[in-house]
Amino acid sequence: MSKAGRSELSTELREYDREVQLLKHGCSVLQWDQETYMPPAAAEERAEQLGLFETLVHDRIADEKLGELLERAGASPENPMGSEDLPPRDRALIRVLFREHRKARRIPRELVGRMARAASTGQTVWRAARAENDFSAFKPQLEELVALAQERAELLGYEEHPYDALLDQYEPYMTTAEVTRVFEELERGLVPLVARIAEAPQIEDEFLYREFPEEVQKQFGTRVLHEIGWPAARGRLDRSTHPFTISLGRDDVRITTRYERAFFNSALFSILHEAGHALYELGFADEIRGSALADGTSLGIHESQSRFWENLVGRSRAFWTRYYPLLQETFPTALADIEHEAFYRAINKVTPSLIRVEADEVTYSLHVILRFRLETALFGGRLTPAELPDAWREESRRLLGVVPERDADGVLQDVHWSIGGFGYFPTYALGNLFAAQFTEALEQELGPLAPLLERGEFAEILAWLRRNIHAHGAARTAAELVLDITGRKLEGEPFMRYLHAKFGEIYALQ
Ligand code: ZN
Repeated sequence: MSKAGRSELSTELREYDREVQLLKHGCSVLQWDQETYMPPAAAEERAEQLGLFETLVHDRIADEKLGELLERAGASPENPMGSEDLPPRDRALIRVLFREHRKARRIPRELVGRMARAASTGQTVWRAARAENDFSAFKPQLEELVALAQERAELLGYEEHPYDALLDQYEPYMTTAEVTRVFEELERGLVPLVARIAEAPQIEDEFLYREFPEEVQKQFGTRVLHEIGWPAARGRLDRSTHPFTISLGRDDVRITTRYERAFFNSALFSILHEAGHALYELGFADEIRGSALADGTSLGIHESQSRFWENLVGRSRAFWTRYYPLLQETFPTALADIEHEAFYRAINKVTPSLIRVEADEVTYSLHVILRFRLETALFGGRLTPAELPDAWREESRRLLGVVPERDADGVLQDVHWSIGGFGYFPTYALGNLFAAQFTEALEQELGPLAPLLERGEFAEILAWLRRNIHAHGAARTAAELVLDITGRKLEGEPFMRYLHAKFGEIYALQ
């Protein structure tokens, strides 16, 4: 290809991609509004609007015109990054677009529509079934959603396990076998640690359930957000039932939280969690901003950024050495009689519980392993949807030592399956692992995290994350990132080392 030809092709690809991104951001505006300020009566037409936008995005990506551009760029299954004489940025873009294009071509439009309808009905039926604690009401819907996911997996294709195809939608290039390997390692470390903590004297955390006025929580949360480097001019903080982060544009990444008057942890830790996601999306390098490369490279990597700020920073002793005096001043009625150390221990209390979203740092990943095990059994043909409630109880007893009495606190607790999100769960625990492994590398370069946090040197920490992780966006895969940064592939040990050091000390384990 001539130099002029190459540059023309680059421009065409970038322009094509830019339009897709603009459409996606249009979808995001509608979604953000739906979850925050939309009046309830608008729900019906909003679903239609979103359905149309999503089909437009799908059509654009599946379009033969994009296929031709990619072919001209030399992209093929054997050479997914295209011609070697193209600039690296374009080759990375080609990899992402070629991947999306091939997937979109394999899923007929008619199936996209069926899945969207099944997800919409699924969510409504699930909500009612959970409220009524009635799994049988949700079962037919669940069976349809599983069948659709199976159909999707077959169309997308996989090498070893049908679940590979589902996982790949959220954690590109990761396989079921690899997740099984790290989760087995994790389970071997976590189960005995939880047992030892259960035998240790328990932690008092009653004061976290005192009165924390919402407005004051918001002021405190906003102050922390600014200090860790969240740029207010490029985002918003609003409230929603379930906290989330969404990109509406290259300079507009919004987060939400929820405030509970009688529980401190809820708002602040959600704010830090979502800020971690937002800082990732706001940290893409200039040359990839606004393109398909300006995206989290995988949900596991995305989650590593949220967990880093929520847990490794926000639940550390050093962070509260800095902020606890201010927190006490901010909430004198609730916290005047509580020492820094007591507060630190309370926000890190470990209790095996039934509900994933309320779980602590130690037991959280066990909730995820449970779901991963059931999902791989479902799609490996070893379990039917009807058998899920019993299988859930069995796994919960084995992994967490607790058994839900009601399906509402067991198999019905999460929204994911009701919208067909099979393959999503593992990314939550992978995020914990990536975060711990990255942090060890960060500490090798910058020195221990604790003194940096005590001194409030968030800019230095954020600059490291930008340089090593955020700037690349989707231009590097998760596996490439972890290898580049840590010199190793993903492993469970750094996370277990982190947990042992932190909770061994909190619970005075020998
Ligand atoms: Zn998250």
